[in-house]
Amino acid sequence: MDNRKYPFSWDLLGDIAVGRPNLGPITRIELYRLMQYTFRDVIEAKFGTEKADEIFYESGRLAGLEFFKNMIGKINDFHEFIRKLQELLRELRLGILRVEKADIDQGSFVFTVDEDLDCSGLPESDQEICKYDEGFIAALMESFFADRQFCVKEVDCWCTGDRTCRFTAEVVV
Ligand SMILES: [Zn+2]
Repeated sequence: MDNRKYPFSWDLLGDIAVGRPNLGPITRIELYRLMQYTFRDVIEAKFGTEKADEIFYESGRLAGLEFFKNMIGKINDFHEFIRKLQELLRELRLGILRVEKADIDQGSFVFTVDEDLDCSGLPESDQEICKYDEGFIAALMESFFADRQFCVKEVDCWCTGDRTCRFTAEVVV
């Protein structure tokens, strides 16, 4: 699309120290979820469930690419990458990441996220809801393994009655 008004750049996140001298960088999870789930409602109503899921996956992917570039940076060792990611996600209160399976040669991984920012505590339904996280994790993996592409799928979620979100990440190329 030409003449884009809002192409993403990390600078759009602004200088919080300057902008919020009294309130600082912390807000309430309810507000984050209010924004995410109202976006989801409107996007789904306008474009359908499948498209809404796709938009969330792609947005998570963009977030993951930028997050890797701006917060993780160049790193060579997989264990070092995971350690740094775990630390960051905990520090930012996004969730508690664990690796259940890591087969680097086959490109096959299973991650869990406890206390996930998007869904922990949500009412139960029969749907895994963390499409944004799927895209986010795919982008992190693709950023680390620069020559590979991953398909990430949430297989358990707080919303499906599990008390953690579990994601499979499989290399596709
Ligand atoms: Zn979930």
